[in-house]
Amino acid sequence: MRLCSKPGCGGPAIGLLGYNYAEKRALLEDAAERDIPPHLYALCAVCADRLNPPRGWILEDRRYEPPLFLPREPALESLAE
Ligand SMILES: [Zn+2]
Repeated sequence: MRLCSKPGCGGPAIGLLGYNYAEKRALLEDAAERDIPPHLYALCAVCADRLNPPRGWILEDRRYEPPLFLPREPALESLAE
């Protein structure tokens, strides 16, 4: 089980948080069962919901997409790279 990376929390992680400094976006994604790249942080449900992006930043919550029954959008895929 992956644990939340907030100091003093240690709850079970449900999401991954990453920062896009160029676009000033905080990205929250589902925690996939893979190794976390060094620039991503694991977060539990509580910490994810309390997340406050820095002033002037946009929080992009991608945790619940894409659904199983929708085709993935190529545009989004290329953005993620
Ligand atoms: Zn937490």
